Amino acid sequence: MPSPRSISRSSADVAISTVAEATFTSVQQKRTLRPRRVKVVPGPLAQEDETRTPSIPNSRRKTAPKREAESTPGSNTEDEEDSEGSAAPSRRTKPKKRNASQIEVDQASYSSEDPPKRKRKIRAPKPEPVYVIPDVERKETTFHGRLGYACLNTVLRNKRPASEATFCSRTCRIDSIKKNGLDWVKDLGRQNVQDMLQLIEWNEQNNIRFMRISSEMFPFASHETYGYSLTYCASLLAEVGALAKKYGHRLTTHPGQFTQLGSPREAVVRASIRELEYHCQMLDLMGIGPDGVMIIHGGGVYGDKAATLQRIKKTIQEDLPKGVRDRLVLENDELCYNAADLLPLCTELSVPLVFDYHHDNINPSPGLPPASIIEQANKIFAARGIKPKQHLSEPREGAVSVMERRAHADRCQSLPNDLPDDMDLMIEAKDKEQAVLHLYRMYNLHPVIYCLLPKSKLKKLKDVNQRGSPSPRKRMET
Ligand SMILES: [Zn+2]
Repeated sequence: MPSPRSISRSSADVAISTVAEATFTSVQQKRTLRPRRVKVVPGPLAQEDETRTPSIPNSRRKTAPKREAESTPGSNTEDEEDSEGSAAPSRRTKPKKRNASQIEVDQASYSSEDPPKRKRKIRAPKPEPVYVIPDVERKETTFHGRLGYACLNTVLRNKRPASEATFCSRTCRIDSIKKNGLDWVKDLGRQNVQDMLQLIEWNEQNNIRFMRISSEMFPFASHETYGYSLTYCASLLAEVGALAKKYGHRLTTHPGQFTQLGSPREAVVRASIRELEYHCQMLDLMGIGPDGVMIIHGGGVYGDKAATLQRIKKTIQEDLPKGVRDRLVLENDELCYNAADLLPLCTELSVPLVFDYHHDNINPSPGLPPASIIEQANKIFAARGIKPKQHLSEPREGAVSVMERRAHADRCQSLPNDLPDDMDLMIEAKDKEQAVLHLYRMYNLHPVIYCLLPKSKLKKLKDVNQRGSPSPRKRMET
């Protein structure tokens, strides 16, 4: 080897070399190791110098990874200790200067073979990921009806890249309609309907055959000025309905809170009827039968609950088109109308009642237990030839005040004991389809495909298992 004496060394070079020098006692040994301190120069030199590496004593090789490990956060601590223990430090004073070519040659001799070997030793091969899905408490039920979820599938919605996301609630502002035109907003609706096909397919693969259609499927379709007929999308809607029928998949709707049939303001009632007509047209164009219900709440009480109930009754009897009335269902809410408030009206008009456990928990019906309400409600469904359906959700853990308890929990931890064996149950939980799969596992209702559980949660568990620290990835929002 040529004698390296012609270049001066940087302070960094000196600092790094101290470790190497502490390891060896001869100048020649130092020269062999020092090049690891500078940037690797790839190319022919690396191959050329492969022949030199066998001459490096084993004791020297053991010391090299020590420096590598020191500069690599998160490297294996045990290996570091092993390396340190095998190389007795002996500090030297001033290192000799070396020229650039010698540095490159020596570096190549070291980088061509030893560093990769040492890296492999330091970082043990990662084991195959083990996805551990926490088990659920096993429970028993005689219930064998369908469980469904509302509007959004968290797995499909959170697909990446974002262009792959599947969902049915693309919407916009009125300003965008003014700017882009009606055809533009109609195209949003077409995309939403298109994605329904994938949603139903996903549900079928996962044994879910009950779902609520997003009310935002056709943005502003019921708007007084910017509204539009859905006939432009008739063939695609028919395709969705046919697919749902093929799988025995029930589709329902839940028009928004502003649908107030008992409002004292005529404009509000008219807008509410338009909203119901829009939902009805969507279901009709899908070719969905009487099970495709439209659920609304009683709305506000406007200072006089009895008078408002009379207005609701009048609107249903006199103002709703027959197609709308045939699909109409009322639901108890957590603030204004409990089940006891609505049952007399529902019974009189033969309008089915959807009983919501969560709302009843906050705004109960005195003297009327859930089982009794459901029994009465299901009788109305049966009389109308509609498959009964009810709603289930739970308040968030630790919720105390009414406002806190109104928020839905991510999942349901049990099915009510008093459920009839066969009816449809909409799970109104934040985790959407995951909440359904959770109950499937808990009660062994259907097999669950683990690879379709959210990857963010799997990743988190995997990281904890392998590295002892959670993934930085944010938990999937639902
Ligand atoms: Zn509900």
